[in-house]
Amino acid sequence: MKKLGFGMMRLPMPDPKEQGKIDLDQVCAMVDKFLDRGYTYFDTAYLYHAGESEHAARDALVGRHPRDSFTLADKMPLFHFKPEDGPDKQAQVFAHQLEKCGVDCFDYYLLHCVDRKSYEIAKRLDTFGFLRQKREEGAIRHLGFSFHDKADVLDRVLSEHPEAEFVQLQINYLDWEDERVQSRKCYETARRHGKQVVVMEPVKGGKLARLPEEAAALLRAAHPDWSPASWAIRFAASLEGVMVVLSGMSNLEQLEDNTAFMQDPPPLTASEREALVRAAEIISAVPAIACTACRYCVDSCPQNIKIPDYFSLYNDDQTALRQGLPASRDAYRQLAAGAGMASDCVSCRQCEQKCPQHLPVTEWLGRVKKLYEPEDQN
Ligand code: SF4
Ligand code: SF4
Repeated sequence: MKKLGFGMMRLPMPDPKEQGKIDLDQVCAMVDKFLDRGYTYFDTAYLYHAGESEHAARDALVGRHPRDSFTLADKMPLFHFKPEDGPDKQAQVFAHQLEKCGVDCFDYYLLHCVDRKSYEIAKRLDTFGFLRQKREEGAIRHLGFSFHDKADVLDRVLSEHPEAEFVQLQINYLDWEDERVQSRKCYETARRHGKQVVVMEPVKGGKLARLPEEAAALLRAAHPDWSPASWAIRFAASLEGVMVVLSGMSNLEQLEDNTAFMQDPPPLTASEREALVRAAEIISAVPAIACTACRYCVDSCPQNIKIPDYFSLYNDDQTALRQGLPASRDAYRQLAAGAGMASDCVSCRQCEQKCPQHLPVTEWLGRVKKLYEPEDQN
């Protein structure tokens, strides 16, 4: 299998404010090109695009291409369950997913977003047992889980569930040595348990596609023809035991770039890896919010605050601020039209419960408010 996977969580949308409305014509064109170029792995989830990603997978992929020409991965949304939900709920969700995707079997199926807390939910509902059963019945070919916590938690889950065949990990050159994400430690733990690795967030929610100029120039000097995103994906794909690297592609141009350089990429050389270490140092020097724009927090916000959009703007502004340029207050006001502003946050912390990056969202919103709503400051 070629090592690039089509992540269906950032599909093209006619209006970025409406996550549930997907530009299906463009997705069809992207899917066709992806398959034409010999790639086969597609990754969706129950909650991507307000539940519409699975329908897009059915309409653009499953309904238009032979079943044996692609593989499809889907996920059990552990964090979607309420305390009163019993094991029957996961059976309902699984059946619904098969129906939404228009398939009778998932090639890869994952417990979505396992961390210390959601692992307790999985234990209460015996989700691993349920999915083992589904694998025996032939409704799942390969069983795994996506993971967002520290390496010691991963070690525990893998020790208690050797039936997991693969692990999906957040791996990119910026998080590799980050103590909060522990990319390297998690990767080494998975490999020690003999597991294949699926890489998510290789471009860190787009952050590694838009680099500070100093970092971009450093990489350009080494390879003028490599895009910043391609450096990031090559880094992840170079690791031994990586089965596939997911890229959440949002338009045909990104797909063209990714599918061109991932045809047969040689592993990074020592000097190329060294350039990425230096680039990571430069990027880390600019204070930024480690939001990957997964949008898991958005639906839970009673104030309809566009958390990832504000964080993205805040991050983009950091370089300009360091150069003495003003913050993009007009852009903020446009983003906030018809939605809650950072100052509308009521600190209910429901977003923080959903955040796989474990971000102190309310704290960061305080900084967003300070930067973009100074008129409200005391
Ligand atoms: S803490 Fe603030 S941003 Fe988070 S869900 Fe509650 S109101 Fe929304
Ligand atoms: S704040 Fe957390 S949950 Fe919300 S989009 Fe960012 S990473 Fe995802």
